[in-house]
Amino acid sequence: MESIKKLIRDIPDFPKPGIIFKDITPILGDPAAMARITGAFEKEFESARPTRVVGIESRGFIFGALLAQALNLPFTPVRKPGKLPYDKISVSYTLEYGEGTLEMHTDGVTRADRVIVLDDLLATGGTAAAACELVEKVGAKIAGIGFVIELGFLEGRGRLKGREIVSLVKF
Ligand code: AMP
Repeated sequence: MESIKKLIRDIPDFPKPGIIFKDITPILGDPAAMARITGAFEKEFESARPTRVVGIESRGFIFGALLAQALNLPFTPVRKPGKLPYDKISVSYTLEYGEGTLEMHTDGVTRADRVIVLDDLLATGGTAAAACELVEKVGAKIAGIGFVIELGFLEGRGRLKGREIVSLVKF
C-alpha cells in the first residue's frame, strides 16, 4: 500500500486552519490504485460474510460502491442532512472539524443484514460511529468498518471499540 500512500496529497489548513486535509483525488485518477484498494477490502472482508455495503457521504460512496460491486452486494448511501428524499432516520455526532448529522433511508438496511461501513478516512471516529449507530438502529449487524486512510494519532479506533476495523494506509 506504499504506492497508494504516495497518491495521498496533504493540503495544510483546509478546510480550517490547523487541519491537514488528506486529498485522495490523485487516487481517483489512478485506475490501478482504485482496483488495488477495492481488491484489498474485498480480501479483508471476505470472511466477515457481509450482505451489504454502506458508504458514508461523499468519498465513502466512491470506495463503497466499488466494493459492493466487486462483492456483488447491494450498496446503501448514508448522507448529510436534507439530501435523502424518502423516509429516513438520523443520528448527530461530533467530528474533527465541527458537528454533523447523518441520515439513512429506513429501507436502506434490513434487520437481517451484515453490513460493511466504508469511508475514505478515519479521524476521530465520530462519523463512522454515527453510521454504525444508524445501521444498528434498524436492527442490522456491523460486519466490519473499512477506511482507505487511518489517522492513528487521533485514536478513532477507541470510539469504534469491539468492531472489526480495516484501514489500508496509516499515518
Ligand atoms: P471523523 O468523524 O473525525 O473520524 O472524521 C472522518 C470524516 O471526516 C471522514 O468522512 C473524512 O472524509 C473527513 N475527514 C476528517 N479529517 C480529515 C482529514 N484530515 N482529511 C480529509 N478528510 C477528513
